Amino acid sequence: MHSPWDYPDFDDHEIVHFVTHRDSGLCAVIAVHSTTLGPGAGGVRFWHYEEPGEALRDVLRLSRGMSFKNAMAGLPLGGGKAVILASAERRKTPDMLAAYGRAVESLGGRYVTAEDVGMNVADLVEIAGHTRYVAGLPVAAGAVGGDPGPHTSYGVFLGIKAAVRRALGKDSLAGLHLAVQGAGSVAGGVVRRAAGEGAHISLADIDRGRAEALAAEVGGEAVDPDSIMTLEADVLSPNALGAILTEESIAVLNVPVVAGGANNQLATPADGHRIHQRGILYAPDYVINAGGIINVSTEYLKDGDQQTVRRRIEQIPVRLEEIWSESAATGRNPAEVADVMAMRLIGRG
Ligand code: NAD
Repeated sequence: MHSPWDYPDFDDHEIVHFVTHRDSGLCAVIAVHSTTLGPGAGGVRFWHYEEPGEALRDVLRLSRGMSFKNAMAGLPLGGGKAVILASAERRKTPDMLAAYGRAVESLGGRYVTAEDVGMNVADLVEIAGHTRYVAGLPVAAGAVGGDPGPHTSYGVFLGIKAAVRRALGKDSLAGLHLAVQGAGSVAGGVVRRAAGEGAHISLADIDRGRAEALAAEVGGEAVDPDSIMTLEADVLSPNALGAILTEESIAVLNVPVVAGGANNQLATPADGHRIHQRGILYAPDYVINAGGIINVSTEYLKDGDQQTVRRRIEQIPVRLEEIWSESAATGRNPAEVADVMAMRLIGRG
């Protein structure tokens, strides 16, 4: 039997708040890893877990990850995350969301909630009826807020360009070949920008129709999802799933650069070392994919306009450069360098 303290990602979490509300059937965990830099901010996931221990493992891992991501994006926010344990039927009701909103409110602003897997903007609007501590709500045209996807894509695109500059000595993606995993929100934005600069795109999605439509739009090609990880290209950009960089997949990568927006790309910390040993330049995922949270943060804290968001996202390649330079100077892999920098920023160096 595990206690919360035994979980690998417990790592001195400041708050682990267990929520049950019998009438609505809500069962949730809110985790706040660190509030050193500001309120713990991160989305709420609505997910059916086979057993509750998995939910606790997930929320602790994600909350700690948000501490690192927010710190490395230079945001005045700590790290937090919540999970709502869905039933097998995934029944979600307004009463359940209201009870969740009240639980967030009860933490007095130490946790700020937003959208994650299984939640949508309408759910957030419901939650916002019961707490002030929520971001990612619909906004009027021209105001900061709304869908974080395009902002994530912009940061990933800039990160890819920085990686190409460092690894290949090129200032433009023109004539380069990008292999892109995923054809969803983040991948779409990346692919359109890269193709606009003259890159050739090969992309894969398990939703074949989606992949073909996007490939046709940018004059690229849709390839089999099983082959995208081994394609010979200048850049592999993972924008779909986590844990795709494993001992087996790293051994057969055929690219000098891996840079994409998917969360938790490395299956284990050892894989950060493996990819580095192969001489492949890796852009740590939570650094390159921070554009969305930068937009959410600016909406919530009301500390800037769309220009401010843009300027902040344009710092992502600067931060990546710092990581790669330190990696080159110390021999440590970029993922490890990023973790150490993030820990230092949240006062746990
Ligand atoms: P999305 O749901 O819009 O797109 C994901 C796509 O991946 C889907 O089209 C899906 O069919 C495809 N996919 C799933 N399994 C696949 C596989 N095995 N091979 C190929 N394609 C597969 O999601 P998104 O918002 O574009 O997010 C993509 C990734 O980026 C996720 O890992 C997400 O956590 C991460 N991320 C997103 C944001 C954001 O702002 N949306 C921010 C940070 C990180």
